Amino acid sequence: MNLTEHILTGSDCWKTGRTITPKGVMIHSTGVAQPDPEVFLKSWNRPGVEACAHAFVHKDGVIQTLPWNWRGWHAGAPRGGGVSANNTHISLEILEPAGHTYQGGVMIGYDADKNAAYFAAVYRNAVEQAAMLCTRYGLDPLKPGVVVDHAEGCALGIASNHADVGHWFPRHGKNMDQFRADVAREMKGGQEEMTQETFNQMFRAAMEDWQAEQAAQPVSAWAEEAWKAAKTRGLFDGTAPRTALTREQAALVLERMERQK
Ligand SMILES: [Zn+2]
Repeated sequence: MNLTEHILTGSDCWKTGRTITPKGVMIHSTGVAQPDPEVFLKSWNRPGVEACAHAFVHKDGVIQTLPWNWRGWHAGAPRGGGVSANNTHISLEILEPAGHTYQGGVMIGYDADKNAAYFAAVYRNAVEQAAMLCTRYGLDPLKPGVVVDHAEGCALGIASNHADVGHWFPRHGKNMDQFRADVAREMKGGQEEMTQETFNQMFRAAMEDWQAEQAAQPVSAWAEEAWKAAKTRGLFDGTAPRTALTREQAALVLERMERQK
């Protein structure tokens, strides 16, 4: 996994300079359809920004934005006035893909099939990064409260009321229990299993891409004359000459030929 460093030295959080002894890892997602980490590196690296995470997880790797033992600003203030996970947890912000919007904390227009490969990549990178941090700080990801998402942090009274990442992972058949299990497996040098749902989503997306590619192909030179004639005769509509013919389409063409006799 590709880990790079881009410390946000222009942020107020960096300048505060408080450190922590990491006791866990909190998983977030940015809550905005923006997969480009550069956008966040720019917008968060200036005074007046009230959020700062330790790293951004993007589809090609992880960018560390604070030293791991810095006190980040990611968990907010817990409802009950308890101690914020800012004092205990390292934060990973997973970037969401493009294309959706939000309504009351719910993703609208999110295409899980189209985003399957993207999700598989950021999920894997997050697993590997969390495993690296748990190993480094001697943390057991399966112990309660160690590896949690923001929503679980809220339930535990250590974070503000946010829905991430429990509002997103289930779109791809994943949840935090699986994430923790995958982190534990990764620490032992194993790979997580791809869920059937993820496999199906990736397969469907690949099929759709292939079909769209075929549909965009022009007619072959050797078939050009016949194709034009068939269109002129009204047997075909003249679109997508290189795609496969179904039996129902064949029946329609035969029926049209019959009627023209
Ligand atoms: Zn969050």
